[in-house]
Order: sequence, then C-alpha cells, then structure tokens
Amino acid sequence: MQLIDIGVNLTHPSFDGQRQALVERAFAAGVEQMVLTGTDAEDSELALELCRSLDSDGARLFSTAGVHPHEARHWNDAVAGRLDALLREPEVRAVGECGLDFNRDFSPRPLQEKALEAQLAMAVRLRKPVFLHERDADERLLAILREFRDGLPAAVVHCFTGEKRALYRYMDIDLHIGITGWICDERRGTHLHALVGEIPAGRLMLETDAPYLLPRSLRPKPKSGHNEPAFLVEVLREVARHRGETEQELARHTRDCARSFFGLPVPAAL
Ligand SMILES: [Zn+2]
Repeated sequence: MQLIDIGVNLTHPSFDGQRQALVERAFAAGVEQMVLTGTDAEDSELALELCRSLDSDGARLFSTAGVHPHEARHWNDAVAGRLDALLREPEVRAVGECGLDFNRDFSPRPLQEKALEAQLAMAVRLRKPVFLHERDADERLLAILREFRDGLPAAVVHCFTGEKRALYRYMDIDLHIGITGWICDERRGTHLHALVGEIPAGRLMLETDAPYLLPRSLRPKPKSGHNEPAFLVEVLREVARHRGETEQELARHTRDCARSFFGLPVPAAL
C-alpha cells in the first residue's frame, strides 16, 4: 500500500521523544508521504524543521504554513511575514491550516474571517493550494471562498464532517475533500458513510489529523490513546468499505490526488 496522510500534527507535544519512531511506523504501515500541519507561525516553523530533521531523502515529509481559526486573534503583520517566508521554502506546500471554527469560537468570528481572508490572499499571490478547517461555518466559509476561488490553484476542506448540502456546495466550487477517522466514529460519523461515495476520485484525500481523532474502530487500541499516521490504514479500510472500492483502488487514487494537490515528488521505494 502506498498512502499519503495529508494532515499530521507532528509538532504536538504528545509526540515528544517519539517522532522518529512514529514516522518509521508510518512508513512501515504503507504511509509513504505525510504533510505536517502548521497551526500558527511558530508551529509552522517547527513543522518545517521536523520535515528537515526527520526526512533524510527530502521526498517524504512536507508541511503547511498557516494560522488556525483558534489562533486567529493573534494574526498581525509580523505573523503574515513569517508565513510568507515559510511559503517560499520547498518543503512548505500549502497555506493553512486556516479557516473558520464557529463550533468552539476560540477566537472572535470577525478576527477568524480577517485571518482567513489574509491567508487566502496570500495563497492567491504565491499560487499555493490551501488547507482549510471548517466547523459549523460552511455558509460563511463558502461566501468568503467565492471571492477568492478564481485565483486559488486548489483548496481542500480538511477533516470534512458536515452534511450533504455542504459537501455538494464545496464540490460545486471544485474544492477537494479530506476524510479522517471521524468516519470510524459510530456516535457521530455515520452520516459520512453515504457521503464518501459522492466524492469523485481526484477530489478525495485521506488524513489522520493525528494525534487527534483516533479511529474508534481500531483494534487493538493503542495504549497511548493517541492517533498516529500509521493508523491511516484504518481510515482507508472504512472509506473503501463505504465507497464499494478495494483498499488498493482507494489507496491509489487518493495518493495520486494528494500528490498532485500538494505537488509532491514520487519517492524512491523504501
Ligand atoms: Zn482542523
């Protein structure tokens, strides 16, 4: 299996002291490339450092640079300058994680919108794809995206957890969709079973969002309780089942999709 995990929060402190081993486990499980998520300026700089220190051949780890809606209240010109510099580095492949989160509202909504618009403008200017986060905010996200869509090379709504109407509206403006282990959650993810089959090959990508969202169907459960990129195979299994595809087919087209979205090289065999 050759998979790409498009959302790994490898900077998360829960991974301290075990990042190398975790990356090796992911490779052994068939995850051949990963995109490390940046959630603020400092975190995005850290993600780039991890790409450089943990990836000996420079073809397996890549990152994003952005400010998560939770951190949007810290947006300012200095932060924008740091992201702009990061986005000129070859390992940094997308703007994000950015977006709107009206579920937790950790930053005031007007500030979330301001930070998002600034990052979308940056993506247009630097011709980079965008890694989007949205919770309970699809109406506003769509309204803002429509203003920028023409100039954006591509954008993925990562960890899509919404309803059919939102999915269709995202696909109407030709966005990509990221699916996580949320679909493995029998309490809140079952509505995704019918929806994943609606996403065309070439627009669908897989992600763990590790260390968050440990797939609840995973057996045996890891002692740490943390998700990690090696568990992407569980997401693959569940999504393949609900799309009526083989795991091999789904692995192939989601990998090709992620590779073209982020412009990743084909790595040498391990
Ligand atoms: Zn997110």
